[in-house]
Amino acid sequence: KLYNQVQDLKGNIRVYCRVRPFLDGQASRFSTIDHIDEGNITILTPSKYGKEGRKLFTFNKVFGPAATQEGVFSDTQPLIRSVLDGYNVCIFAYGQTGSGKTFTMTGPRELTEESKGVNYRALGDLFLLSEQRKDTISYEISVQMLEIYNETVKDLLVTDGVNKKLEIRNSSVNGINVPDANLVPVASTSDVIYLMNLGQKNRAVSATAMNDRSSRSHSCLTVHVQGRDLTSGTVLRGCMHLVDLAGSERVDKSEVTGDRLKEAQHINKSLSALGDVIASLSQRNAHVPYRNSKLTQLLQDSLGGQAKTLMFVHISPEPEALGETISTLKFAERVS
Ligand code: ADP
Ligand code: MG
Repeated sequence: KLYNQVQDLKGNIRVYCRVRPFLDGQASRFSTIDHIDEGNITILTPSKYGKEGRKLFTFNKVFGPAATQEGVFSDTQPLIRSVLDGYNVCIFAYGQTGSGKTFTMTGPRELTEESKGVNYRALGDLFLLSEQRKDTISYEISVQMLEIYNETVKDLLVTDGVNKKLEIRNSSVNGINVPDANLVPVASTSDVIYLMNLGQKNRAVSATAMNDRSSRSHSCLTVHVQGRDLTSGTVLRGCMHLVDLAGSERVDKSEVTGDRLKEAQHINKSLSALGDVIASLSQRNAHVPYRNSKLTQLLQDSLGGQAKTLMFVHISPEPEALGETISTLKFAERVS
């Protein structure tokens, strides 16, 4: 029995690796990915990373460059469905800038039905399922979209352009919440598309001022689900966070100063705080260090306990990316 419990707990953290294809015009380039087989990925390495010239990493699943958005999503589906049963879920996209985080979560810039990412598909699925269950359970679904930049939390669903700093609260009734952020009820995929466009626009406004800020902030789409059983009146709540993390690339401290250095330090701090939290959950440590970053504070209710976590780690196939690829895979190994 104890063994089963331990297995269940372990089962609450899953790590998937996704390798993006070469970008247009790079078709026949040399790839650092040697082999992919189910959960195994072998990377070709220069000798400084190991004598063999190859390094093997193992995860719950590895998606190669040919994986489709639909294929990636179908492995995520059971997790997403559990939100309607009252579970809290976190899905993260981790990786260096340009490795495909936004592609996985949202999709490419020109969105088609096929290229839609996890966020759209997840919401679509929740609507579909809640519709199927409507004779027994009445569901209300609402979303928030937040950005964490330099350890400050901001609302991405503002319509007046005013983007004030928000506080994370912890109340006995609502748990961890950001009471001053807009929480918008949604009933259809088109509502979600509208809101995600608004969020992306608000993120882009800051980007022109600060030059591609999106790679240096975390964005978090949070879906709150409340279901009322029509016979018993029992209410259940579930919540899902879909997080497009800031780029994980290390910044050479000798080359940046001022704001850039501060940004880099904040990103570094919050990504290592996230790694520490997931690693300590995975090792079942008694103490889980949630307090070390705004990101882990915000997600505290949805990391650990009965909550389910999925980390997509993204890597690029180019030799120039090898250093970051190895450190991304090491991060992933530590949290799995
Ligand atoms: P990140 O968000 O990690 O910085 P992006 O998602 O913006 O990276 O991806 C960088 C570029 O690569 C984009 O042009 C994107 O459309 C493309 N890309 C990423 N992943 C894939 C993929 N699996 N298939 C096709 N193109 C991809
Ligand atoms: Mg991105």
